[in-house]
Amino acid sequence: MTFIETEEQKELRASVSRLGERFNYIDYVLPKARRGEPLTELWNEAGKLGFLGVNLPEEYGGGGAGIYELALVQEELAAHGAGLLLVVVSPAICGTIIGKYGTEDQKQKWLTGLADGSKIMAFGITEADAGSNSHQIATTARRDGADWLLTGNKIFISGVDQADAVLIVARTEDSKTGKLKPALFIVPTDAENFVKTAMEMDIVEPDHQFMLFLDNVRLPADALVGEADAALMQLFAGLNPERILGAAMAIGVGRYALDAAVDFAKQRTVWKDPIGAHQGISHPLAQIKIELELAKLMMQKAAVLYDSGDDFGAAEAANMAKYAAAEAGIKALDQAIQTHGGAGLTKEYGLASMLGAARIGRVAPVSREMILNFVSQHSLGLPKSY
Ligand SMILES: Cc1cc2nc3c(=O)[nH]c(=O)nc-3n(C[C@H](O)[C@H](O)[C@H](O)COP(=O)(O)OP(=O)(O)OC[C@H]3O[C@@H](n4cnc5c(N)ncnc54)[C@H](O)[C@@H]3O)c2cc1C
Repeated sequence: MTFIETEEQKELRASVSRLGERFNYIDYVLPKARRGEPLTELWNEAGKLGFLGVNLPEEYGGGGAGIYELALVQEELAAHGAGLLLVVVSPAICGTIIGKYGTEDQKQKWLTGLADGSKIMAFGITEADAGSNSHQIATTARRDGADWLLTGNKIFISGVDQADAVLIVARTEDSKTGKLKPALFIVPTDAENFVKTAMEMDIVEPDHQFMLFLDNVRLPADALVGEADAALMQLFAGLNPERILGAAMAIGVGRYALDAAVDFAKQRTVWKDPIGAHQGISHPLAQIKIELELAKLMMQKAAVLYDSGDDFGAAEAANMAKYAAAEAGIKALDQAIQTHGGAGLTKEYGLASMLGAARIGRVAPVSREMILNFVSQHSLGLPKSY
């Protein structure tokens, strides 16, 4: 395992950073987010440059690199305030799962589009009555001849309006035991009896969340990804990248906030020296710098473990990275606002507008508390309370 980036990775970082600069937070992202419009121009450009599919196999138009590189793309964009929420979902979860477990036809049909960004796939696991307890999901897939019929509902699903399909986590009934087991289905967003309703979120962000209602949605046999009864393993293959990419986005947000705070602290003078000379300002910023670097190290460890094929080993690091990154990112933004004084709450700086989006990282894709549960039980061997 090495954390010294290759020349290729350094070049990738530099070119993604140039794109982030072009589509930066103040000039591009913030006005779009305030209007609730998706970052389509940035998405398309990132797709054309090969950034969105950097982790996908070369034979399907991807870059043939790993989750490390996709996390690098996300971190550098987010460091300009231009992180792309759907990167967490479309290439990271859906692209990974289809790349590992999809049929040749599914790969041909989806991966090239996911790689260049011309196709987007959302991901739907959360249900209102299950929440964090995804063992409790009730969306059910039933065989009807060669077809499948899907019935159930989902909540908080990001980007369905931009997506061509949603990778839905449902359950199939075991014909022998009658027990329900998770299975993954590609559901086109224009399927009959598939209804999406936008949720009224109170976050300034370009992407929207949706409730989904599926009422006997008819799907062909090849909508099923992988085996109907190996789905837990298949799900894990997508969830670790999701956590690593969530961490990357939070670290990028933290870097953006820290840079803004440092710039301001160097210039703003209300006594004889710039406010950055006061340790009440400089020490919290130094502390945040350390916490962001530590979170990034854990994210890199998780990505390297994952790319080496160690799904189970990556799970602990991916959870810890997501936890540490979300906490550091939120703290960085809060301290950036404090460093700016009143200016931190003005529209001009746009920092307060970022709070809701940064706060997502503490709740999704897995909440802070569920990560602490994971670490208590799996890393420390403590008993489960629920
Ligand atoms: C902006 C946004 C985008 C999202 N995008 C997607 C998406 O694209 N696809 C998707 O499938 N989902 C998505 N989600 C859903 C997200 O994954 C869930 O919100 C998250 O997993 C938490 O579930 P919940 O909201 O039902 O909270 P709940 O499960 O109701 O939990 C509420 C609180 O109780 C705590 N809690 C619950 N159980 C325990 C326990 N055993 N011990 C300690 N504390 C506990 C939680 O940590 C949380 O603080 C998104 C959510 C948001 C906010």
